[in-house]
Amino acid sequence: MPVYPWQTEVWQRLTGARQRLPHALLLQGRRGIGKRDFALALANWLLCQAPTPHGPCRHCRACHLLAVGNHADLRLIEPLEGEEEGRAVRQIAIAQVRELEDFVGLSTHQEGARVIVIHPAEAMNPAAANALLKTLEEPAENTVFLLVSHKPRQLLPTVVSRCRTVAMPLPDEEMARAWLESQGVIDARLCLALAGGAPLEALRYADGEYLAARGVFLAALGEPAKLDWLKLAEQGARQDLASQIDWLQKWLYDLVAVRLARRVRYNPDFAPRLRELGAGVKVEALLRFVRELEGVRRHLDHPLNPQLLLETVFLAYQRAVMTQNG
Ligand SMILES: [Zn+2]
Repeated sequence: MPVYPWQTEVWQRLTGARQRLPHALLLQGRRGIGKRDFALALANWLLCQAPTPHGPCRHCRACHLLAVGNHADLRLIEPLEGEEEGRAVRQIAIAQVRELEDFVGLSTHQEGARVIVIHPAEAMNPAAANALLKTLEEPAENTVFLLVSHKPRQLLPTVVSRCRTVAMPLPDEEMARAWLESQGVIDARLCLALAGGAPLEALRYADGEYLAARGVFLAALGEPAKLDWLKLAEQGARQDLASQIDWLQKWLYDLVAVRLARRVRYNPDFAPRLRELGAGVKVEALLRFVRELEGVRRHLDHPLNPQLLLETVFLAYQRAVMTQNG
């Protein structure tokens, strides 16, 4: 798996001195920029029996095992669905970290390194994080921990202090667009804007059906006086709720941004409408609604009645955006 063009500098810095690589790295940066892929590529390079400066050799036994996802000296720890106090949660639980204690205590299968990738590290619950801390405090020989985090501030400071922090870069717009176009994305500029510049997230938006649904939704938001919120909620209840709340949040962000800074971040294709609408809005009313919406988003996984939820949201939107500066 190749690293992305915007990661080559970090790659060279880390792989240039294999002997000086610390036993724990914290790869941090925003979501959707390829941190997980980078961590797995680095893990592959560390496990490869004949690594080159550019990456793993792809021919040795270790590389073959990794290619089929079956290398005994690599562990990828990711959140599992679980339950806590009767609620569904997605987290990395202590049992997953405890298994690592046995793993790092064993001798390696290929007489090489042993690599553990934890993604995202902030998904560890407190018990799991404390268990990991113990393992990090007594590093086993030739074992490398690669922690990946979108939200490093949510990590235990004691865990962070035992890692070397690596800031994972966001590509500039030109590089990100070129890369997206090389992946066959037609509307690279719009997808990149929707993703706030994060290319892998942008790739997820490059879907004609998704973009068409978004266009219809935003066109309705753009005419608040004519907004048929009952109808919009009825239609919306049959579609993905999280996407609709995401579109609405980005729309509100842009409305505030055009009002305060005259710039549109997420929805360049609706810039003229946003400017017109934004000129008259009352920022405090919008910000109050933004906070309400945060609360709605937290309960999005299991809404009792999606249609009712959307009705409430659209009505509140209409009220917030039609509160004019007097
Ligand atoms: Zn190899």
